[in-house]
Amino acid sequence: MKPLIVPFFISHQGCPQRCVFCNQLKIAGGAGEFPSSAEMLAKITACRNSGRRNSVEVAFFGGTFTTLPMPVLERLLLPLQPLIAAGEVGSIRVSTRPDAVDAGVAEFLLGMGVRTVELGVQSMDEGVLELSGRGHTAADVENACRVLQSFGLSVGIQLMPGLPGDTPDKSLASLRRALALKPDFLRIYPALVLAGTKLAELYEKGDYTPLSLAEAIKLGKVMLHGALAASVPVIRIGLQPTEELQSDGTIVAGPYHPAFRQLVEGELYFDLLLLLTKGVPDATPVTLHCFPTKISDIVGQRRVNVQRLFAKRGVKVAAIEGDPRLSPLELQVASGNLLKKGNILYDLRYTPEVTSRVR
Ligand code: SF4
Repeated sequence: MKPLIVPFFISHQGCPQRCVFCNQLKIAGGAGEFPSSAEMLAKITACRNSGRRNSVEVAFFGGTFTTLPMPVLERLLLPLQPLIAAGEVGSIRVSTRPDAVDAGVAEFLLGMGVRTVELGVQSMDEGVLELSGRGHTAADVENACRVLQSFGLSVGIQLMPGLPGDTPDKSLASLRRALALKPDFLRIYPALVLAGTKLAELYEKGDYTPLSLAEAIKLGKVMLHGALAASVPVIRIGLQPTEELQSDGTIVAGPYHPAFRQLVEGELYFDLLLLLTKGVPDATPVTLHCFPTKISDIVGQRRVNVQRLFAKRGVKVAAIEGDPRLSPLELQVASGNLLKKGNILYDLRYTPEVTSRVR
């Protein structure tokens, strides 16, 4: 069972500079101040009392945790130690930069109960990293992963396709290099133009063009498929639709959608639908069977997949039924004597030509 995450946002604290795309205050809200130990304990207790029985993981997001001065680290981590000893907090998760990790840092984190480190990687392309003002290299990412993994820490990698200088091919090359590091999970956030960032200035001057929503969905689809094929879970695609993020003027431009992941997964299912209905005669009514919780993804928002299937193949979806015997990646098409079953992972292939047509 997944742990219940109790998040604390320490926006921009510890960051050596501001990356061109980043405005954590707009993403997470608040002033980015450190929580006091009383505030942390109160929030943890409230979460534990919320009736959910998962184990608790305390998370520090939104800054560069491992460059914080030692007194600050101790102020944040020491109050959690009695809770860890009592089993009330199972583990701690922190996010940081790849160039802010070494063996000493990893040993310290481990000793304090940290079990997961999320690395803001964004890209493995040196040109993209430079244009995005990251201030680290792809080699720093590889080194950070190696060090953290050698201490037995779980590593998450965050990728951000669509940054300045990026192309779909570069995004996919970054994904491949990231997957080669065998991270425990990925997050994929297509780059957005947020107010108050250097990226917003570049965009206003006409020096930066974000991915369109359609481009980001198509690229996200191929990236998600690549991660699935490598058995690396993608725990989030697209920024969380917080009140702060969705407030007027926060997103200046870019491929934002509050249900971005559903759109991406809907594309994968649509590709599988096209494959499974190849050769089905026009106007044939078909019944689809899928894992019960996947019905809405397969139908698509406003029934877009059903309509597109009819427009492209002339095939009518007469019904769609949940079947718990199917896996979440499977889809079955039935009509009369026809019965075809497919799996997103094994039956779809995305060649480089597919992705070079993204833009
Ligand atoms: S992307 Fe990470 S390192 Fe860069 S400013 Fe934002 S929180 Fe700091």
